[in-house]
Amino acid sequence: MSTVSPPISEPDPSTFACPSGDKIGPCGSCQRKTWKYGNGGSPLCQWCMGPVQQQWGTTVRHKNTRSQLTPPGPTG
Ligand SMILES: [Zn+2]
Repeated sequence: MSTVSPPISEPDPSTFACPSGDKIGPCGSCQRKTWKYGNGGSPLCQWCMGPVQQQWGTTVRHKNTRSQLTPPGPTG
């Protein structure tokens, strides 16, 4: 399974969804034009963001601190 990214000359599809042209900026990795600034923007184009999100997870939350609460089990 491999995702082929379009050439750099092609802007990221997010630019078409961007409500304002001044929110467009170069991707932080490949310099492709992408919706970079403002609410909904991303510093990376979707082609660069994809594998990164897979590593980070789409919902990055703080670690579960309640793991200490273990139910009392039978002893002996
Ligand atoms: Zn990129």
